[in-house]
Amino acid sequence: MQGKLNVQTENIFPVIKKFLYSDHEIFLRELISNAVDATQKLKTLSTRGDFKGELGDLTIDVKVDPKKKTLTVSDRGIGMTADEVEKYINQIAFSGVTDFMEKYKDSHEQLIGHFGLGFYSAFMVSDKVEIFTKSWKDEPAQHWSCEGNPEFTMEEDPKHTDRGTDIVLHIADDCKEFLEESTILQLLKKYCRFMPVAIRFGEESVWVDSETDCDKDGKPKRVEKKQPRIINDPEPAWKKSPSSLTDEDYKKFYHELFPMNFEEPLFQIHLNVDYPFNLTGILYFPKVRKTIDPNRNKIQLYCNQVFVTDQVEGVVPDYLMLLHGVLDSPDIPLNVSRSYLQSDGNVKKISQHISKKVADKLEEMSKAKLSDKSDESDKSDKSDVSVRTQLEDKWDDIKIFVQYGMLTDEKFCERAMKFYLLKGVDGSYYTLDSYREKIKALQTDKDKTVCYLYASNAEEEHAYIEKAKAKGYDVLLMDSPLESHFINLLEQKIEKTRFVRVDSDTVEKLIPHDDNIPEKLSKEEKEKLQPIIEGEIDKQRFTVQLESLEESDAPMQVTQSEFMRRYREMAQTSGGGMGFYGELPESYNLVVNINHPLIGRVLNETDAEKQKDLVHQLTDLALLANGLLKGEALSKFLKRSVEMI
Ligand code: ADP
Repeated sequence: MQGKLNVQTENIFPVIKKFLYSDHEIFLRELISNAVDATQKLKTLSTRGDFKGELGDLTIDVKVDPKKKTLTVSDRGIGMTADEVEKYINQIAFSGVTDFMEKYKDSHEQLIGHFGLGFYSAFMVSDKVEIFTKSWKDEPAQHWSCEGNPEFTMEEDPKHTDRGTDIVLHIADDCKEFLEESTILQLLKKYCRFMPVAIRFGEESVWVDSETDCDKDGKPKRVEKKQPRIINDPEPAWKKSPSSLTDEDYKKFYHELFPMNFEEPLFQIHLNVDYPFNLTGILYFPKVRKTIDPNRNKIQLYCNQVFVTDQVEGVVPDYLMLLHGVLDSPDIPLNVSRSYLQSDGNVKKISQHISKKVADKLEEMSKAKLSDKSDESDKSDKSDVSVRTQLEDKWDDIKIFVQYGMLTDEKFCERAMKFYLLKGVDGSYYTLDSYREKIKALQTDKDKTVCYLYASNAEEEHAYIEKAKAKGYDVLLMDSPLESHFINLLEQKIEKTRFVRVDSDTVEKLIPHDDNIPEKLSKEEKEKLQPIIEGEIDKQRFTVQLESLEESDAPMQVTQSEFMRRYREMAQTSGGGMGFYGELPESYNLVVNINHPLIGRVLNETDAEKQKDLVHQLTDLALLANGLLKGEALSKFLKRSVEMI
């Protein structure tokens, strides 16, 4: 029989070709998906008892023949009768293409990465396409052929006796790359890696013990053997039940997904929903540490085990883009543009669900003690009742990720307020509530605000930390790059709360209480002192502040205003918008303790040279405590010190 396809435009094939130029390669995914569907349908017919014959080997074969310039996809699925070819290929499939072209004729970009073209996408790369098919029903095999124009031929093909379908593509001259084994292998690995029916392509080498040859020691020699290559894992871990998988299985699957990632993931979440939408998948928490991985496309999106994309913006909440793994859902509309994706109801629900699952998991970990698992801790530690929780154990690695989530997702933030952990400079962890309880008594200032002291770098701010500790205060370690934003968030979320870095003021002033220390200098003396000190320092960088401190405190100290420093840091990490703060020069306060005997000596020194030296020596000491004394200034200080001794 001969026929004419029901198309308006004579030259639809060149149009298909041109339209989808950048996306040629998806033809393979489309053809193999059809082969998988046909195979799955046969399996269903068999379990239902409709098909009573032998299923046999259902592996799908992909073959290239460079001489004949053909690429063939063969399945042993349900096949098609003549009527079915007429209906599904000549009418429906083709009308599908025409609809598609009509819909997208004005927006080429929207076509990128789409399902929907199905069987006809074969014409993107072929001059001619043939179908050899025999239905599972007792009907003669058919041979259909079409040369990329609206005419086709179809005839019975008595030679073809095996059940199933062979699709033969006669690859066009400008698409020769699809005759290369390496290209096809790469495409199969990209799109078909987890398809649910085994796919065979080419051969691979394995090393086995020889059956005939032995080496000197009588051991069998290792010899190379060729065997058919199966390119996919038809039963990927995410499709299995979580209870059947061990931690090792999850790790193994992680490395299968990301062979180039050598680090172990920290833990994972296995998603398995079937109502009100369908979603399976595994999301892994990688180590994030201090840097946010710029290479964020580490979540792959599948539709019934067919790879769709690794660009998941919109499907996954922004902060979860740091995770690695797979998501599989037939309910995500795949043939639409990304901006549409973001407004799709199902996608929103999926995104919220994922976020909730992540919060559930973290909350669960915050309750589970480490020793609930096999006991790795030192047995002699048994007396210690405060066993770390699973969350504490991983906290340093995931903190930045939780912060990112809290800053960008209101709902997640609400949940996380319950399990977020603050870390003390001594390494202990506290929930937000328990920490407030701990410090409330000593660290509430005269305005009833609870002051949380923190350090960004325990080593550099060591001297300040020690001073705060001596007062009985507790100091937190807050060292992530998002910290300044995060502190602002906490100050908004928890009423009557203020965060102050330990070096932002003298220890007395960090948490102002009502007890004033009497001043040893009169107003006139202070007025005389101020210019003496200002005369010797860089006034651009330092502001002199005379303060009445304990006699035992240092004579001079360098501090940096909390407000200025935090805004500078925020401007630097948010890029734009806060530019003004980012450009502020770094400035410090030079706090002079007017009650210290050495300051009294500065004031009363009559020899101008000696007075200068004394001021320099004292400011240098203050700078030194802060790690700010460097280079020439440091050499001068050392020299002067020796002379003064
Ligand atoms: P879709 O797969 O989206 O339905 P296609 O154009 O790819 O659209 O295919 C149209 C129809 O042709 C399929 O629904 C199926 O009924 C039939 N078909 C395609 N390939 C095969 C195959 N390998 N075996 C059996 N039937 C097939």
